[in-house]
Amino acid sequence: MSTPMFDKVALIGLGLIGSSLGHAMRRADLAAVISGSARSEATRKTSLRLGLVDTVHAHPAEAVAAADLVVLCIPVGANREVMTAIAPALKPGAILTDVGSVKAEVIRHIEPLVPDGIHFIPGHPIAGTEESGPEAGFAELFDGRWCILTPLPGTDEAAIARLTAFWKACGSDVETMSPEHHDLVLAITSHVPHLIAYNIVGTAADLEQVTRSEVIKFSAAGFRDFTRIAASDPVMWRDIFLNNKDAVLEMLGRFTEDLATLQRAIRWDDGTALLELFTRTREIRRGIIEAGQETAAPDFGRAHGVPGEGVPSPPAEKA
Ligand code: NAP
Repeated sequence: MSTPMFDKVALIGLGLIGSSLGHAMRRADLAAVISGSARSEATRKTSLRLGLVDTVHAHPAEAVAAADLVVLCIPVGANREVMTAIAPALKPGAILTDVGSVKAEVIRHIEPLVPDGIHFIPGHPIAGTEESGPEAGFAELFDGRWCILTPLPGTDEAAIARLTAFWKACGSDVETMSPEHHDLVLAITSHVPHLIAYNIVGTAADLEQVTRSEVIKFSAAGFRDFTRIAASDPVMWRDIFLNNKDAVLEMLGRFTEDLATLQRAIRWDDGTALLELFTRTREIRRGIIEAGQETAAPDFGRAHGVPGEGVPSPPAEKA
């Protein structure tokens, strides 16, 4: 029997990402012991029942004791408070990472609280669904998806290699970049699209008093897709926008300018401009399919387990 990659891994937060990591670690036998921590007793009990963790603790400091790898899987707004609680209990030499969807601000919260001798390597798996909680997780969530690491200058190379090997064993491809670049890329590929979905569903909801039954009854594919994204976890997304303000506002500025151009094209019957844009955007989708990040199935890959952050759901999780 092969030796697990880590003697003990602690998962702080046992929602969609924490529980999926538990499943993925079990699948590849990556930890001799998995400990976990969550705020609510209900989550702790469910995680034990599902076999995601070997031990579960109300206090995160108890979960991280003697752990070689600690993964923070909590909303980014909770990092500072949890770090303060766990810092004195971290094992010297341990790797500390997170899965937060925002990197620069999270690093500003966490880094000052990291004790000497701990290898802090921020991370972000680009994988998810709009579901939350310990029962939403599944082992395949990270398969074929990117995990971005944003190590700080001077980080121990052996620790980065170990964390890279961990994510690869969980099914991910791993790429390294600066936190600022990560935040800019994710602002346009994930954060602004979510904001647009929240906004359009909100606008339709405001119209509901007049046309409530029509909005639901005649809800076409475009609107339905937006409602799925707009069903993503409210706390997680509030924290993302509050912690990636600059990049989101910059990309939103570009988006509004381009929207005004489209508005003008419609007003002035400029079919050529519309056709040119729609043809280019079709190519982008083809590129995503060719890169294996989505399928061309008629259901847009949603029922085929190729989830992206807040994008498609796997079969078992969707009603
Ligand atoms: P989730 O399903 O809502 O789970 C969050 C977990 O954190 C729960 O176990 C919750 O405990 C715990 N928690 C919440 N607030 C806390 C606090 N103030 N102190 C301590 N624990 C707290 O969330 P998730 O989708 O797994 O997201 C976790 C992290 O992953 C976020 O930082 C998010 O940005 C990142 N991420 C998410 C996705 C995605 O698509 N969902 C993708 C990539 C990265 P209880 O269950 O007891 O409430």
